[in-house]
Amino acid sequence: MSEPSIGNTAGRSTDPRPTADLARDDTVTVIGAGPAGLACAIVLARGGRRVIVHERRRRVGARFHGDFQGLENWSDDIDVLDELASEGIRPSFEHRAVSQVTAFDGWGGRHEIRSDEPLYYLVRRGSGRDTLDHALLEQAKACGVEVRLSSPVKSTSGSAVVATGPVLANVMAVGYLFETAMPRGC
Ligand SMILES: Cc1cc2nc3c(=O)[nH]c(=O)nc-3n(C[C@H](O)[C@H](O)[C@H](O)COP(=O)(O)OP(=O)(O)OC[C@H]3O[C@@H](n4cnc5c(N)ncnc54)[C@H](O)[C@@H]3O)c2cc1C
Repeated sequence: MSEPSIGNTAGRSTDPRPTADLARDDTVTVIGAGPAGLACAIVLARGGRRVIVHERRRRVGARFHGDFQGLENWSDDIDVLDELASEGIRPSFEHRAVSQVTAFDGWGGRHEIRSDEPLYYLVRRGSGRDTLDHALLEQAKACGVEVRLSSPVKSTSGSAVVATGPVLANVMAVGYLFETAMPRGC
């Protein structure tokens, strides 16, 4: 099997630079099985494309360990879950709407933020069954997407989508799980 390549970038993901119209019968290579790659694969497969996703790690969500992230919902009129549904992606992952937030400033000041609509949905990241990552993987496979794990891509030709996540680190972040005394734990 030949290994797909991304331009001539010595293994670093860069601008995908689409070069030609996608022929109907082309197999699309998606590089990266994060949320972006898997969501893209689902949309393409539902549109009738043959899709192969390559993920360099042994499992999806390997970077995370069941910690929560926010699916942002404050910047658009359409609810993010409705937006996903419009692309055929079901919220089959654990999710919790958050419409009230307590923020603390650098001087210890406490600020309550409330919204009529969810500000974001808490979703679990990682490889477990209730995570966003696992749900997208299962939905992709159910659409006929072939997912190849432990399959790093250094270069590719043909129709490809580069969904390898942020290239440069500009922040260091670690997710922690801990109990709180606040209503619903958050
Ligand atoms: C602690 C923490 C908290 C965060 N909180 C939030 C939050 O609350 N809300 C939010 O929206 N975002 C948050 N983020 C950022 C969030 O993780 C990213 O926005 C999201 O994961 C990006 O998805 P993605 O699919 O673009 O990339 P990624 O999730 O990075 O997925 C890219 C995938 O591509 C794979 N890959 C990379 N190179 C190759 C290659 N050459 N060949 C094959 N596979 C490859 C990687 O292994 C990875 O699985 C947080 C990040 C961290 C670390």
